[in-house]
Amino acid sequence: MIPKRVKVNRRYYTVEMLDQTIDYGGHKCRGLCDWDKKIIYISKKQTKRAIISTFLHELFHAICCEYKIKTLTHKAIYDIEGPLAAFFIHNPRLAKSIKQWRPQPAKKKGPVAGAF
Ligand SMILES: [Zn+2]
Repeated sequence: MIPKRVKVNRRYYTVEMLDQTIDYGGHKCRGLCDWDKKIIYISKKQTKRAIISTFLHELFHAICCEYKIKTLTHKAIYDIEGPLAAFFIHNPRLAKSIKQWRPQPAKKKGPVAGAF
């Protein structure tokens, strides 16, 4: 469901699914983005919908780090994570469409017939 690795700008983040909640400074968290190690941790102790929401939340942190975005507040991330999760759940065909738009690796250019 959640990919094991995602590319954010030019960096790859590993996604680790954990059986327990994540302890961060004494707080129990559903997810955590370690942008130094490029790891997104997601706790499996939540509903599937909450897992998607938490993943998107941590992904926003990764995006803010990799694109040096400082204007997106934590509150804004909390406000948008649920609606965006609902959007992806209600529009599963979008992911398939996007996959088709991915840039293809450049093909090797061979000699063109009749070019000489
Ligand atoms: Zn956060």
